Amino acid sequence: MASLVCATCRKLIPPGASAIRCTVASCNTGRLKLRFCSVACWEKHVPTARHRKAGYVVEDKSAAE
Ligand SMILES: [Zn+2]
Ligand SMILES: [Zn+2]
Repeated sequence: MASLVCATCRKLIPPGASAIRCTVASCNTGRLKLRFCSVACWEKHVPTARHRKAGYVVEDKSAAE
């Protein structure tokens, strides 16, 4: 199982920790699945990705697995 790395700060998101996912479709298609360690990192991602309408969801891994 590959560990997740925050797309903004490259910090490891440890297994069991909740990750922030961008709701914009282009961030979730193909092999590019962006995850962020915190909402602050997601907020930094939004202007760089030029999202006009961006949202995020918190992935609670303990509930999902
Ligand atoms: Zn981060
Ligand atoms: Zn995005």
